[in-house]
Amino acid sequence: MQMVSEWRATLTYPLTLSRVLERMIRYWGHVDVVTRRPDRSLHRTTYADLYRRAHALARALTRLGIRPGDRVATLCWNHSMHMECYLGIPITGAILHTLNLRLHPSDLAYIVNHAEDRFLIVDDVLLPLFEQFKQEVRLERVFVIPFSGESVPEPYESYEELVKGPFEPFPYPDLPEDTPAMMCYTSGTTGRPKGALYSHRAMVLAAMATMLADTFAVSRRDTILAVVPMFHVAGWVLPFSAPLAGARLVLPGPHLDPESVLELISSEGATFSGGVPTVWLGILDALERSPEKYPLRRELRVAVGGSAPPESLLRRMKRAGIRLIHGWGMTEVLIGIQSHLKPYMETWPEEQQVAMQLKQGMPVPLLEARIVGPEGEVPPDDRTMGELQVRGPWVAGSYFRGEAPEAWTPDGWFRTGDVAVWDAEGFIKIVDRTKDLIKSGGEWISSVDLENALMTYPKVKEAAVIAVPHPKWMERPLAVVVPREGETVTEEELREYLRPKFAKWWLPDAFVFTKEIPKTSTGKLAKLVLREQFKDWKWPES
Ligand code: ADP
Repeated sequence: MQMVSEWRATLTYPLTLSRVLERMIRYWGHVDVVTRRPDRSLHRTTYADLYRRAHALARALTRLGIRPGDRVATLCWNHSMHMECYLGIPITGAILHTLNLRLHPSDLAYIVNHAEDRFLIVDDVLLPLFEQFKQEVRLERVFVIPFSGESVPEPYESYEELVKGPFEPFPYPDLPEDTPAMMCYTSGTTGRPKGALYSHRAMVLAAMATMLADTFAVSRRDTILAVVPMFHVAGWVLPFSAPLAGARLVLPGPHLDPESVLELISSEGATFSGGVPTVWLGILDALERSPEKYPLRRELRVAVGGSAPPESLLRRMKRAGIRLIHGWGMTEVLIGIQSHLKPYMETWPEEQQVAMQLKQGMPVPLLEARIVGPEGEVPPDDRTMGELQVRGPWVAGSYFRGEAPEAWTPDGWFRTGDVAVWDAEGFIKIVDRTKDLIKSGGEWISSVDLENALMTYPKVKEAAVIAVPHPKWMERPLAVVVPREGETVTEEELREYLRPKFAKWWLPDAFVFTKEIPKTSTGKLAKLVLREQFKDWKWPES
């Protein structure tokens, strides 16, 4: 009798991203990819063309000496050439390292050097940013994408030189599925930014996960407007799920203002989009001002995450006829927890439904979550708080160079730094965070860095920077400052002092002067007390 253990699949292969490319060319070559260029014109291409150019890129990089494990960085907006990098770099065995163009040049320099990026591919329109840290980094080659349509300025090399010429297929090397494919740095924990690595297998499985009906349900019927920057969390994996599923892809380039995004959603007939609450609050404002200007597809669904959405966002989305998917994710976790209602909840009173949707929800299939308090896993009583920990096939198991190993428990769970409760339905709710950081419009601000800088100012004795709720940005920094004895300090001079050291949007919106900052029993700044004290702070424009 044949043993059950002898069963074998007809084909077993490593789950590498070449599978995405091969499906894309076999079935979806005709599907279009639309990009809004800097001059606002629309550029249209197809997956067939992306395939050809991604293969050409892979050939060129290999010819130039890029080897498996090397890092190739991108500093780009969302557009079809960035998609070529997503597809063409990992198939060589090299690691696509996406750089966050919102960071301060000194942080970008740190990250490029720390990652030891060998090559950089950069948009011509971002050269002014690159030139602010160019002298501080060691890169072997820099290729410039002529995104604006202008010719590439001297002395840079053009990206087009890498991808031009007659098509010749790139022979995929045999890569084990655990080969790193991508890396995104995160400031989402305290300390210096750290590189979260994703393997080919992680990406393929995460892309599959986004195609499930109870997650994003990405399918061939979709037109995806990818608002989430491709330099954040692998663009929520959509650059891989779209070509795998055969979905049309619309990429907004640098035009992320609400009217431009809304216009594109409407004119291209988007059925799926996503982004942080700040972006969608702005889009809803524009939509509510002139709904007739922007007819939307009935099927439009929007994934919102990155920060907790306010209740008003849910209600306004509903009024606009847009289906909202509220999700929680992290750079290290990719696709994580989502609050799709269970069928019987749909008969609940609206208030209760809204309360469930405002929770972060349940882990997507194959991801595991637990909430751990001082006495172990907390009961599902919606009350007992603990740290949210996750694990799963696409959750990063270490940082680049093995930094901060304490982010993982000894039994291998990733410690998110978020404080959560969960209920009898299995729905998780984030209630706080242990990371001493501020999340403004989906981007992190380090309160510790701001405090340290403030405390180097001679007239400042002590300073604490805290996150205070904000109607537009979700959170903004507020600085509480104790001047040195006999000194008077003004808000203006502190702002001037900080300005050259940080990105503009990092600067605290308010400075409060006081005689003393409350301390914990161990002498640390009692941020919790301060946050409680300022939780109802009225920002000028609110
Ligand atoms: P992302 O780019 O997805 O925002 P980050 O790693 O920068 O990823 O940030 C992840 C953190 O953002 C989480 O640990 C959590 O603190 C916060 N976060 C993400 N999604 C939500 C959400 N839906 N509700 C509340 N907080 C969230």
